[in-house]
Amino acid sequence: MQPLRLTLLFDADDTLWENNIYFERAISAFISFLDHRVHTPEEVRERLNLIEQATVRQHGYGLQSFRKSLIACFEQLTTEAVTPDKHERIVSFVDSIGTQQIELLPGVTETLTQLAGRHRLLLVTKGDLAEQHDKLERSGLRPFFSGVEVLPEKTVSAYRVLIEHHACEPEHSWMIGNSPRSDINPSLAAGLNAVFIPHDFTWVLEHEAVAAPPPNRQLLELTSFVELLRHF
Ligand SMILES: [Mg+2]
Repeated sequence: MQPLRLTLLFDADDTLWENNIYFERAISAFISFLDHRVHTPEEVRERLNLIEQATVRQHGYGLQSFRKSLIACFEQLTTEAVTPDKHERIVSFVDSIGTQQIELLPGVTETLTQLAGRHRLLLVTKGDLAEQHDKLERSGLRPFFSGVEVLPEKTVSAYRVLIEHHACEPEHSWMIGNSPRSDINPSLAAGLNAVFIPHDFTWVLEHEAVAAPPPNRQLLELTSFVELLRHF
């Protein structure tokens, strides 16, 4: 008997490759540069989180949006003008992220090689369209995926559209990712199964309690990407 061919949907950032650690480094560099006399680094970070939430709502994800957030944070927390020099410094923190080499998480290539032989793989990421496609190309992982979706936001309705568009059978489809807010909870609510692979440095705006799966759906929690081979 042929084993069942499933559809496996993969998140990209912090599931296939490192991403948030570069933002964390850039934010640390920004906070040191700001060197605030009154606010502690933690307070600056909290303010930045709020600013990022607002910027993302208005401009979406990606580096341009992040640059806007850092500039806004600087403007809100200092009385100084953002001189061309300072602007350039802030932009340099953002540019350091865009020029990073893609650093795949352990065992990703080997695992995808095996899984692609058995199942249909789709990539489901969110963020800036050009940036996400560029990272995928540079990662060398593009050939494993029969479809790529870059969503502005991973909502329940976005997953429903995707299920329809790629003719996924929800009971035989699994969303795999590191973010409870974007990968796990909305995909379960849309009727998919899910695999949660936590990453130690998941972006704080992605944190959320993991929901229980609906009836007849499964939720797995794994500690590493290679463990997928034990289940699929
Ligand atoms: Mg992710």
